[in-house]
Amino acid sequence: MTSLNSNKTVLIIGGGIAGLTAALALNRLGISVELLEKTAALGGKARHFCCKATDACQQCGACMVNDALRALSFTALAGDPPLTVRLETELTAVHREAKEFLYSYRSPEGAGEGRAAALLIAAGFDPFRAEDKPQYGYGRFPNVLTGLDLEKQLQQTGRIVRPSDGLPPQSLAFIQCVGSRDLHLGHPYCSQVCCGYALRLANLIRHRQPETAVTIFYMDIQTFGKEFPRFLTETRRRLHFIRAIPGDIQSAESDRLLLTFQPEDGSPTRQQTFDLVVLSIGLTPGKDLSPLVGLLDLPLNADGFLAKKGPAFSLTAAEGVFLAGAVAGPRSIARSVGQAHQAAEEIAGYLWEGGAG
Ligand SMILES: Cc1cc2nc3c(=O)[nH]c(=O)nc-3n(C[C@H](O)[C@H](O)[C@H](O)COP(=O)(O)OP(=O)(O)OC[C@H]3O[C@@H](n4cnc5c(N)ncnc54)[C@H](O)[C@@H]3O)c2cc1C
Ligand code: SF4
Ligand code: SF4
Repeated sequence: MTSLNSNKTVLIIGGGIAGLTAALALNRLGISVELLEKTAALGGKARHFCCKATDACQQCGACMVNDALRALSFTALAGDPPLTVRLETELTAVHREAKEFLYSYRSPEGAGEGRAAALLIAAGFDPFRAEDKPQYGYGRFPNVLTGLDLEKQLQQTGRIVRPSDGLPPQSLAFIQCVGSRDLHLGHPYCSQVCCGYALRLANLIRHRQPETAVTIFYMDIQTFGKEFPRFLTETRRRLHFIRAIPGDIQSAESDRLLLTFQPEDGSPTRQQTFDLVVLSIGLTPGKDLSPLVGLLDLPLNADGFLAKKGPAFSLTAAEGVFLAGAVAGPRSIARSVGQAHQAAEEIAGYLWEGGAG
């Protein structure tokens, strides 16, 4: 696409991998960008993910965040057209006037206002709250962790230990689909990414701590990437798979954890004890989205994520408002990046066609 050479500004809400990628792509197209991020740092959830490389890269996508942050520091230095990032900043009001959006925000430096020709919402998702599945004892049993806890522990220390005694676990279980594919919780959808991150984390643990036996409790394994069949065949050699989702977790001696489950083949209920359990939590709609949804009168899809309109990748029902990343539903880092590029192209097309006057 040719450069737009426009002095129009696109306002981006959210500085995770989707917002960052779109900001850079728009800026490269010659469009000025104002990005509002409500926390004190850019990068979103993926900022806390570890590199899952074993002997080879496992294609988890986590390093895309650092790549984007590095690219942003060069772009910000160049400064033409401007790419402004405001941290700890939230939109307080927005309305359309003619074909522009007039908006206000609150930041640590005080309140501010601006005008934008288009809006991109990249406000992401919330990880499922494991406490909302009380039968698994998250928050009560120290050795029940979530996938996010495990990502953080591996990123910070490179190894996995039991929080109760600091010792490496001899046995570890992953429970898949926690908070997803669950009608009781009102989350019938598949979260798309938790099979991928759990299997990669399990491979990484087996690689770094081969004394740890890893069992995966699952319903189905969601495919990801074209290399998936080979990846799964190799992974099956290193891990133990049980096709059952445990009904509950109880505390056992020495802070171990007793899992009760019904094997898929109809054989009697079984129990097995583990040193550590990881809940593969899924993605839920961001609870902070409601003010944005209200301000812009945006429709939601059946799962509660923001709905896009028609065959376009990122357009919503509200004119001039676009979406990128997991705000529109569960997706991986790589897919969020791909979609953010697509959104940038669609926004440039919209501005080019005079969509914003
Ligand atoms: C435990 C776990 C492990 C995962 N591991 C992997 C993995 O290994 N590989 C992979 O590909 N994917 C993984 N994922 C999925 C990955 O997290 C998403 O693909 C990715 O974070 C989506 O990026 P995003 O920018 O759309 O959203 P987010 O990462 O959620 O970023 C959104 C940003 O918007 C900001 N924001 C929200 N509301 C506002 C507002 N109102 N105003 C201003 N800013 C706002 C947030 O603070 C945040 O910085 C994992 C997910 C989980 C839960
Ligand atoms: S894709 Fe993942 S495993 Fe590969 S180098 Fe990047 S962070 Fe590491
Ligand atoms: S990605 Fe895997 S663990 Fe996550 S909800 Fe889908 S099937 Fe379950």
